Amino acid sequence: MPVAGETLTASALHIEAGGKGLNVAVGAKRLGAEVDLLLAIGHDVAGDHLLEVLQGEIIDSKHVHRFAENSGHGVGLLDEHGQNMIVIYPGANQLLNSEHVQSAAKALMEADMVYAQLEVNIEAVSAAFVMAKQAGVQTMLNPSPWQPLSTQLLANTDILVVNEVEAVDLLSLTMPLEKVSLEASTAQLQPAIETFWHSWSGSLLVVTLGALGSIAFQRTQAPIQVAAFEVGALDSIGAGDAFASGLCVALNGNQCLKQALTFANACGAIVASKSGVLNALPTAATVATFLES
Ligand code: ADP
Repeated sequence: MPVAGETLTASALHIEAGGKGLNVAVGAKRLGAEVDLLLAIGHDVAGDHLLEVLQGEIIDSKHVHRFAENSGHGVGLLDEHGQNMIVIYPGANQLLNSEHVQSAAKALMEADMVYAQLEVNIEAVSAAFVMAKQAGVQTMLNPSPWQPLSTQLLANTDILVVNEVEAVDLLSLTMPLEKVSLEASTAQLQPAIETFWHSWSGSLLVVTLGALGSIAFQRTQAPIQVAAFEVGALDSIGAGDAFASGLCVALNGNQCLKQALTFANACGAIVASKSGVLNALPTAATVATFLES
């Protein structure tokens, strides 16, 4: 990875439509869910391309709003170990507001689950979660890119999914997570999570730890750890989104928590083992074959 002021030459270039919202929507759809996607894009080439992607995935674009601002863009750098560094430009994503949420009210209130991440305006996420909660719809939030969560947003979030970096921010840990083992990370996280339950009414906090796997912390039961699948990781970009789509689908398919984590880990591993994100997101059949092998 370059340091400040340094220029490096990359060995490959990969361009694709993306963003966390799109990734999770496409991921969940390929896993068999019915998906409605509330999204903001620009009147630009990237926006046009994104609509083509949705059409190809047979995801309805009636809740996709277009603005004069550029579509959000992201640039990810990938090193030879498959580790990534990402910078995003929010663009149109920041223009999504509560009125757009209101226009998708019917779909939102009829959903089994509402999933959001923070590449879009957090006010829109808050409005969506208020509406979901009032309608008794379960909510899952991946607070990424990290920003502090209001009391209201937290109060309307049932399930939180965070990676190791977001876990440190969410729980105000003073040290980075030591990623030695799932057991060690669980032990390091547990005291802060005990405190966190006092300020959050949700039921499930899932922490993903890349090649180690994932841990589910529950309010009333012991944590569940599920080790990652060993794959030759090529490109970890999008693994978290694949994991989140797998978790949404598995929990709504009434899998028990341990099975759901295993299923989500498989989705993450499959994406980590391939280059690109959209083309790597698995179908339910691909995950089933992976789990059998
Ligand atoms: P994010 O992309 O949000 O940083 P993670 O890197 O923690 O998320 O990855 C999410 C999940 O994907 C992990 O919990 C794990 O199950 C799977 N995963 C990620 N990287 C690898 C890897 N190198 N090998 C196997 N599984 C992986």
